[in-house]
Amino acid sequence: MAFSELAHLECSRTGATYDADVVQGLSDVGAPLLARYDLDAVTVTPAEIATRPPDLWRYHEVLPVRDPAHVVTLGEGMTPLLRLPRHGERLGVPNLVMKDEGLVPTGAFKARGAAVGVSRARELGVAGVAMPTNGNAGAAWAAYAARAGMRALIAMPVDAPQITRRECVVTGAELHLVDGLIGDAGRLVAEAITRREGYQDTATLKEPYRIEGKKTMGYEIAEQLGWRFPDVLLYPTGGGVGIIAIHKAMLELQQLGWVQGDLPRLVAVQATGCAPIVEAYEAGAEESTAPDDPHTVAFGITVPKALGDFLVLRAVRETDGTAVAVTDEDLLAAQRSLAGDEGTWVCPEGAACFAAVGQLREAGWLRGEEEVVVLNTGTGLIYPDTVLVDLPVVPKDGALP
Ligand SMILES: *Cc1c(COP(=O)(O)O)cnc(C)c1O
Repeated sequence: MAFSELAHLECSRTGATYDADVVQGLSDVGAPLLARYDLDAVTVTPAEIATRPPDLWRYHEVLPVRDPAHVVTLGEGMTPLLRLPRHGERLGVPNLVMKDEGLVPTGAFKARGAAVGVSRARELGVAGVAMPTNGNAGAAWAAYAARAGMRALIAMPVDAPQITRRECVVTGAELHLVDGLIGDAGRLVAEAITRREGYQDTATLKEPYRIEGKKTMGYEIAEQLGWRFPDVLLYPTGGGVGIIAIHKAMLELQQLGWVQGDLPRLVAVQATGCAPIVEAYEAGAEESTAPDDPHTVAFGITVPKALGDFLVLRAVRETDGTAVAVTDEDLLAAQRSLAGDEGTWVCPEGAACFAAVGQLREAGWLRGEEEVVVLNTGTGLIYPDTVLVDLPVVPKDGALP
């Protein structure tokens, strides 16, 4: 059996097929390409997978890297799936569970997409990756490019989290800070690489393999639940890769016969300051429209117009899910409340999902008996400014109460 059962790439709009063994960008109609596998040829069983090392490469048959020698790894994957009984009680959803992506290299789930994307780019002979980012993706791709011995060109808004620019610099990436949003950075990157040899535009969904790395979150959740799906899954949605990827994973798991039963209801969570997917969902539209002045402390989900918006909306509607927006005030309160209840400091994007659980429970969309998985996409440590500490300093010969 082959290390990878990758068969071909498929246009997400037209279904047209493309060769997977050359460097590819978008399809002819400008849509993302999705990797398809010969799932019938996958003979490994869940029991055998359980004996493999605890990283995302345990699912290598359904990942795109053909030669194990090309795997670029920093030990990503198999993050904890934590039960949150105390916080669940507070929200009226006792069966609340968190998939905690704060525990991957670089501190955000972006490491998954970078590990698989960089590995496959190197396998196909790409010399440098180039991307716009809201920070975390750039930090991750810079790290994996360094590990692979490849170059990385990263452009991020000057307002992106400070730590992410330091991660790019320390790993030797070529970093540019842009006075604008991620879309502006994207235009600059796309133009720059027309003048450079050997670079690939690896912007969100513009290459097919980042999504493959992210889909392993879906495989892991199913495996960690004993090869079954939860009832509901909430995801903080920016570019939408994560939610599209988890949906793809779950369809593959059904087709592989590894999991039986209905897919979870998928919930796309955004911040009210930038909620194009939620607005499109509510309007019954198939695509989103960029808001005028997008802003939220949950910087990773400040994506005014996602290339894969139609795929997010499809995933939400096909699974009887929904899309909800929460205010910055509510998500910061949720971050604090969860940390006090369970001892875990999640990123503001993940916190948005916890606020959304409370909101959906109050609205009756969640009835309280469901098993609800929240994707926490990163650690709160990336966003130290979300918690302000203002304490007087005690003199050393003073006394504590
Ligand atoms: C990028 C990012 C998101 C959004 O992920 P998408 O897959 O692009 O929707 C959410 N949270 C964090 C911490 C991120 O870095």
